[in-house]
Amino acid sequence: MDHVKSLKCLICGAEYRPDEIEYVCPKHGDDGIVDVQYDYELIGRRISPATLAENRDTTIWRYRPLLPIEPDSPLPPLTVGWTPLYRADRLAAGLGLKHVWVKDEGRQPSASFKDRASALAVVKAQERGAEVITTSSTGNAGAALSALCASVGQKNVIFVPESAPPAKITQLLVYGSTVILVRGAYDDAFELCAEAAKAFGWYNRNTGYNPYMSEGKKTASYEICEQLTVADLRGLRNLEGLKGWDAPDRIFVSVGDGCVIGGIHKGLKDLMALGWIKAMPKIMGVQAAGSAALYDAWRTGISAMQMTPIDAHTIADSISAGLPADRIKGLAAVRETDGAYIKVTDDEILAAIPALARGSGVFAEPAGAAAYAGLVKAVEQSLVHPDERIVVLSTGNGLKDIASARKSVGEPVVVDKDLAAVKRALGGGRQENK
Ligand SMILES: *Cc1c(COP(=O)(O)O)cnc(C)c1O
Ligand SMILES: [Zn+2]
Repeated sequence: MDHVKSLKCLICGAEYRPDEIEYVCPKHGDDGIVDVQYDYELIGRRISPATLAENRDTTIWRYRPLLPIEPDSPLPPLTVGWTPLYRADRLAAGLGLKHVWVKDEGRQPSASFKDRASALAVVKAQERGAEVITTSSTGNAGAALSALCASVGQKNVIFVPESAPPAKITQLLVYGSTVILVRGAYDDAFELCAEAAKAFGWYNRNTGYNPYMSEGKKTASYEICEQLTVADLRGLRNLEGLKGWDAPDRIFVSVGDGCVIGGIHKGLKDLMALGWIKAMPKIMGVQAAGSAALYDAWRTGISAMQMTPIDAHTIADSISAGLPADRIKGLAAVRETDGAYIKVTDDEILAAIPALARGSGVFAEPAGAAAYAGLVKAVEQSLVHPDERIVVLSTGNGLKDIASARKSVGEPVVVDKDLAAVKRALGGGRQENK
């Protein structure tokens, strides 16, 4: 890993060699989250927009020289990454905007954004020769780790709150993980998992603790900028002279622990350091009103270290976090890019599920639709300009939580096998599912 310079503590600034510490800066207990520092000059000699334009690998591993892994580490076979970035003109028009894209992370192997991080977790754990990998999860991080581990036959133990949606728990069981359902909230599962990892010597993938998870998640930013550029260049033959990519003006992302938004920020910072994009997009973090610790911290201007746990409740289970584990990176993403935090109610999140699906064809779970609900609110509050190029991350597939999706739509019409009944159903004003 000659391209990794150090692991830098985000609290005290101390720097460590990657072989010196496994997870956090030892000076702050478990809170000392570190950030991977790179030698961008070296990386810039190994990879460029032009070489990528010729690269046919459509997984996150196309960006391998930018990832903190050994050059010869084996990679899991599931195709993680390069999810579609759809132009959504009808959605845009409905909001009075000109340029809106939706990135559909529901297309990942385990159907959420978390596969980007778990893919890296599996590579790092295997570099360490770990026998068991563990994580706590609201559901998706676990399902992602479970799937990626199954693809390479890696033993793993997953801690999730008992209340996680059945589809997510089913994924864990089907992929063959050891599943521990915790009577308590996600934050309780997080603590218990961390204790177990220490006691049993397991490799710990926990968000906001393992420094490599944001590094997997940052690949979404590379893809957004590369895909926006490729769309513009379609038909152009000569890509050898391609020096840089187009960045959007704003990216909307839903936030629980703050690792996804931190990863989005990290990817954009990499691209700025390499000179591949010219301006930093503004990052818009969207939180559920019942789980808005980062929104509150941003609005009141306190630091991540001053935050205290809240009692989190939201229908968007994937973004329910009492004390966001990656709060340092989560706050920095918005503050350093001149973005904003936005909060949306559970009703607004539920309404966003069919609105996003009908306007773009992308069916999102509540936490995924929350990002779109945040865009709707940002438009209402005049936080965005109609000409801006806006990307909405749909972080998880709607089939993950059909109970919530069904609450957002009416009931279907049921008829006897009789055409007259169909006629009545079509014309009879009782068509609730419009
Ligand atoms: C995990 C997750 C998020 C939020 O990610 P954090 O890193 O916890 O902020 C958003 N949407 C979905 C679907 C997720 O699984
Ligand atoms: Zn430190």
